[in-house]
Amino acid sequence: MIFRADLHLHSCLSPCGGLDMSPSAIVQRARECGLNALALTDHNTARNSPAWQEVCRAYGLAHLFGIEVNTTEEAHILCYFDQLEAVMELDRLIYDSLPNVRNDPVRFGDQVIVNAEEEIEGEVEKYLHGAAAYSVGDLTVLVHELGGLVVPSHVDRDAFSLTSQLGFIPEDDFDALEVSRHYDLESDPLSLRGRYAMLTNSDAHTLDSIGTRFNTFELEAFTVEALYALLHREQQPEATDRSDQCERQKRETHRHP
Ligand SMILES: [Zn+2]
Ligand SMILES: [Zn+2]
Repeated sequence: MIFRADLHLHSCLSPCGGLDMSPSAIVQRARECGLNALALTDHNTARNSPAWQEVCRAYGLAHLFGIEVNTTEEAHILCYFDQLEAVMELDRLIYDSLPNVRNDPVRFGDQVIVNAEEEIEGEVEKYLHGAAAYSVGDLTVLVHELGGLVVPSHVDRDAFSLTSQLGFIPEDDFDALEVSRHYDLESDPLSLRGRYAMLTNSDAHTLDSIGTRFNTFELEAFTVEALYALLHREQQPEATDRSDQCERQKRETHRHP
């Protein structure tokens, strides 16, 4: 089966994510953009994953659970799971390790847990943009032990990336590298192709951005095991930049609601 997958999405639980980014709204917008596989990757938390699972199942969308962990080095790392229990275990470990800084919703933004019906069920107390007490190397080992995949985020960006924080991409046991939606995939200026499989995602914090970049995979099933096998083969998943098409589709949708 062909999966068109945007695997980097922030919900209203991320302090910088829009309040309208409920799991339900994300899934509906992704379907409008023609995506059929998604991953929710809030900063340092997975507490919207139960609603995520419910909504994705209701709409019949393939989905992964994720966390975008901010490591001790302040590098963002995407961690993916296909089991809710596993991502909630990582959530617990990461949250316990965060600095004891209380979120200030006025200054930093809301961090709300919602259910599948978009009702607010609670707020996360600690500020979720802090650095977890796990290094890149330790996190990679931990996530693999929990049965997940490890993909450093937006390695081309000049903030919160391996390249910005370390100045290089270490030889850890990553499953792929992610490049941002601004990276020129054709010219590949960082010469990443061939070192690791490359993923590219929208990193959407607003509904408008969902699906502006996505990956196309041909897989029997959208599971961590199948993705692992694909990412560790030599061939690259096909990456698509279609900010234009998505914009056009959105305008059409607005004209013909
Ligand atoms: Zn990030
Ligand atoms: Zn992100």
